[in-house]
Amino acid sequence: MMINRFTLLAATAMALLPATTIAQAKELVLYCTVGEEWCRAQSEAFTRDTGINVLMTRKSSGETYAQIKAEEGQPRGDVWWGGTGDPHLQAAQEGLTEEYRSPLLAELQPWAVSQAETSGYRTVGIYAGALGFGYNSTMVTENAPACWKDLLDARYKDDIQVANPNSSGTSYTMLATLVQLMGEDEAFAYLKELHANINQYTKSGSAPIRAAATGESAIGIVFMHDAVTQTVEGAPIVTVAPCEGTGYEVGSMSLIKGGPNPEEAKIWYDWALSAKAQEVGATAKSFQVPSNMKAATPPQAPKLSEIKLIDYDFAKYGSSEVRNALLARWDAEIGALP
Ligand code: PLP
Repeated sequence: MMINRFTLLAATAMALLPATTIAQAKELVLYCTVGEEWCRAQSEAFTRDTGINVLMTRKSSGETYAQIKAEEGQPRGDVWWGGTGDPHLQAAQEGLTEEYRSPLLAELQPWAVSQAETSGYRTVGIYAGALGFGYNSTMVTENAPACWKDLLDARYKDDIQVANPNSSGTSYTMLATLVQLMGEDEAFAYLKELHANINQYTKSGSAPIRAAATGESAIGIVFMHDAVTQTVEGAPIVTVAPCEGTGYEVGSMSLIKGGPNPEEAKIWYDWALSAKAQEVGATAKSFQVPSNMKAATPPQAPKLSEIKLIDYDFAKYGSSEVRNALLARWDAEIGALP
């Protein structure tokens, strides 16, 4: 073999290149819709297990739905992981996400499989959690609120926080829950009255309980597991399951249609449904009920069997028509209030 000046130069250049430039590193673009700490822990665990790099962005559920809708036809993300099920169902109905039947479906709770069936297998349940509220027990010291109706008490004027249902899946779950508990007109009448006690509609669903934990606000309407996280972190937060009954979320996962890394996306999807991957949440102080029946449920997770849960109609409240209409009515009647 002739070795000339050019082959020597090429060989030297190859030796100097990092390995990643020669064999392109595998990567995955993740739109993550749980808490920041859990998003990071889950991404790092996946990279450790598979060697695939994760480019992760964290947003709220409604915001992520809106981003995927805006990127339709030119998607930049591969997987939408976490967040409430309703906007995942809406994305499925609008053809923004891919149909996929994971072999791991057989290991999942019926409520997680039901989410997949409702969407024509374009989304799937990864965890569940009930809606409620939490209060700061150093600020609310007597006649603690136990019911949705108690939150209307004038003594809580400017003391309650909840998120905006356009950006937040938590807050949309509240809106859909109240409509199912009371009827639509009564639910909007309730929200109008509650408005007098709301000091801020936040972007993120869990921000209201962080504000209650620091004493910036007395009560936060959130998922019960998000209130438990604050208690576990040492804040004087008491978690309440509203006496009238309450709704719940089936936190979900979807493959984004036409994403840049479809193979890696399916590797994430199957991995994220495994018992091992579903036990990462508790290490990041996230106390939902995992959907894989073999995954350990964290002892701190609110027990769904002990909470008065409504029969939440995910197909209806996750449909484009109903979700868009309820959000438009919220903007007109609640968001526009001074
Ligand atoms: N973080 C946690 C821990 C959750 O359980 C959920 C709900 O799925 C979310 C975030 C969703 O947040 P948001 O209400 O901001 O969409």
